[in-house]
Amino acid sequence: MIDTLPINTQHTTASRLAEVDFDHLEFGKAFSDHMFAVEFHNGEWQNAQIVPYGDMAVSPANSALHYGQAIFEGMKAYRQADGGVALFRPFDNWARLNSSAERMCMPTISEELFMQGLSELIRLDEKWVPNAPGYSLYIRPFMFATDGFIGVRPSDSYRFMIFTCPVGLYFNKPLRVRFEQKYVRSAEGGAGYAKNAGNYGAAMYPTKLAQLEGYNQLIWTDASEHQYVEESGTMNAIFVIDGRVVTPALSTSILDGVTRRSVLQLALDMGLTVEERRVSSREVMEALAAGKLNEAFGVGTAATIAPIATIGYQGQDYDLPATDSKSFSSRVSAALDAIRTGQGADVHNWMVRV
Ligand code: PMP
Repeated sequence: MIDTLPINTQHTTASRLAEVDFDHLEFGKAFSDHMFAVEFHNGEWQNAQIVPYGDMAVSPANSALHYGQAIFEGMKAYRQADGGVALFRPFDNWARLNSSAERMCMPTISEELFMQGLSELIRLDEKWVPNAPGYSLYIRPFMFATDGFIGVRPSDSYRFMIFTCPVGLYFNKPLRVRFEQKYVRSAEGGAGYAKNAGNYGAAMYPTKLAQLEGYNQLIWTDASEHQYVEESGTMNAIFVIDGRVVTPALSTSILDGVTRRSVLQLALDMGLTVEERRVSSREVMEALAAGKLNEAFGVGTAATIAPIATIGYQGQDYDLPATDSKSFSSRVSAALDAIRTGQGADVHNWMVRV
């Protein structure tokens, strides 16, 4: 198997960099000048290219559009204190992409080819990596079926691509969330642990209903009892209960978040107790009533750490204690920021220079 490929690069003749207002970036609206693409045909990856970002032609019969053979990743590159650029834990995203690919009967991609496409693209669009606190380059690797065939079976051909977007802060104020006890995001044995497109499409309707009620996001609960916390929107959920860091244990219905994993490691580094186990909505609400719910927050690449201010439960809203700079969420957020920007010691070797 070929691990890397020559990349044919077509440079843009009209950079859009000057048109972007870096002081008012909205998540996911500005796209960097180039994108990476590689094709899977006859059992192998071939024809690797970097081309100007833009529309492209695909067969209207492809199985991504009809049956959801589409997967993606979300990761970030950060401007370093010395002016360079580094990726945060890119090998974790590569491994998760391949785990999603296997679940969706799609081909895996070698670590070398993934890293080669990623590094060359980011080096080329280096000027798009913002240089302000809280800002970064969001990276969207994705893969989809390309056969022109409408039968329900795995496609034979695929395209893997990467594009990037300079981004600022995702949520700028503490969240209002509510437990979702009717709709489910995923079930044990389903594909919730994969980042396949369908998981996100199916989550939009329940999320929209919650937003119409004035919440930002849902706290998903398990499919069989509708009691146990799964995730919060497109973030993993973490609670600090009586000084202990508590989060739902991973399962086939929960996405294994890179931020979650990093936050738990930093909690251990700070000497805190970490519990990965089942967490029921009742436990959370009882802890809140007893004054023992110190913090609740969502963690994910796009939002980083998003503190929860209010939780809706069985038709009532409950406010959490306000967080301050001594709260675990603030300390872990600052520790992560320091590592990501090269200002703090990267003892776990999470950062990879491009
Ligand atoms: N859960 C879901 C459903 C997500 O889409 C994401 C975002 N990838 C996360 C959790 C957080 O994962 P990560 O920290 O790797 O971004």
